[in-house]
Amino acid sequence: MIPPAFEYARPASVDEAVRALADAGEEAKVLAGGQSLLPLLRLRLAFPELVVDVGRIPELRGVREDGEALAIGALTTHHDVIHDPLVRRYAGLLAGATATVADPAVRHRGTLGGSLAHADPAGDLPAVALALDAELVAVGPAGRRTIPAREFFLDYLQSALSPDELLVEVRIPKTEGWGFHYEKFQRVAQAWAIVGVAALVRRADGHIAEARIGLTNMGSTPVRATAAERALAGADGPEAVARAAEAAAEGTRPSQDLSASPEYREHLARVLTRRAVLTAGGMG
Ligand SMILES: Cc1cc2nc3c(=O)[nH]c(=O)nc-3n(C[C@H](O)[C@H](O)[C@H](O)COP(=O)(O)OP(=O)(O)OC[C@H]3O[C@@H](n4cnc5c(N)ncnc54)[C@H](O)[C@@H]3O)c2cc1C
Repeated sequence: MIPPAFEYARPASVDEAVRALADAGEEAKVLAGGQSLLPLLRLRLAFPELVVDVGRIPELRGVREDGEALAIGALTTHHDVIHDPLVRRYAGLLAGATATVADPAVRHRGTLGGSLAHADPAGDLPAVALALDAELVAVGPAGRRTIPAREFFLDYLQSALSPDELLVEVRIPKTEGWGFHYEKFQRVAQAWAIVGVAALVRRADGHIAEARIGLTNMGSTPVRATAAERALAGADGPEAVARAAEAAAEGTRPSQDLSASPEYREHLARVLTRRAVLTAGGMG
């Protein structure tokens, strides 16, 4: 399919990009890796008057250490996230989950910032950002602001970014010493998740001291399985983990589609949470 006609801008800096977005108002769209936006344009599900291609802004790429956090440029590709030594050391959950996204071709073009800004609850990385307590840094005409991941995903394909804001950085508190695992249930390899579970586990004295669980595709936004997180505190073996994982679907509102019914997704959330936590906690 041929996309509708649009104006095209390729700014060289964040300031230039924000000015272009502000001038165009609601009629502009940011283009990062294009792996979600281009299909939408081709299917004529989006009609921007202006596409602002941020792909040539070097300051938006790369990973650096910033005290107790990693700062990852929004335009860092999935491929670069997976292979970055700092991400592997301090945010292994993100590296592991990103390796399950699509196929190598998509991972070479698609970006971390694009995946979060797109706010697709079926995407793997929004739930991971929630579990990691990430912060998203946006720049707009009014300046820079930091949005906790918990406040970023508002609804299906809707984030807290306003149309004139650019997501510039994703800040991830270091989780060195935590166990982690992303358990993705998909029909075939390299497909989207029917349900996914991002688990982080901190153990102390032979039991789980703290667990954080992010759920993919269990509602119109990614969600934290807070009831299961509470129940997991103190769990000291596989049976206790299995009991706690029974609470994984509490408070979720999964959708019905060609792949699964809501009830099946709830079942998957419980099973995958048990598996993800056992692996993350080294108890499997
Ligand atoms: C065949 C295929 C399979 C896929 N499978 C998976 C999968 O299994 N799991 C998964 O998680 N994802 C999957 N994806 C999606 C992929 O991860 C995309 O890379 C990602 O969703 C969007 O990233 P992007 O950089 O391509 O963003 P784009 O497509 O360029 O943009 C997506 C949206 O985000 C906005 N945006 C992008 N960057 C910014 C920014 N810096 N600031 C503000 N707004 C911004 C755009 O305006 C647009 O609305 C798949 C994609 C394809 C084509």
